[in-house]
Amino acid sequence: MANNCSNREKCGFYLNYKEHSEVIKNNWIEDFCNNAEKSESCEKKMLEESTGQPLPDHFTPTGKVLRINN
Ligand code: SF4
Repeated sequence: MANNCSNREKCGFYLNYKEHSEVIKNNWIEDFCNNAEKSESCEKKMLEESTGQPLPDHFTPTGKVLRINN
């Protein structure tokens, strides 16, 4: 879909954590992953593009690291 983040279909955060309770509570999928314009301010996307290095899947669009042991 043209309106989604261009990385969405291969992004580990989206693929693995879109159903995580904290992700849902913070509305990160709608606010970043499903919004091409706002995805340009995703910390994960910006850092990966600037460094050329992938971040862990549980690194969120706001830069917060998701707790994954719950
Ligand atoms: S977490 Fe960031 S890079 Fe991944 S799909 Fe969402 S907006 Fe795109």
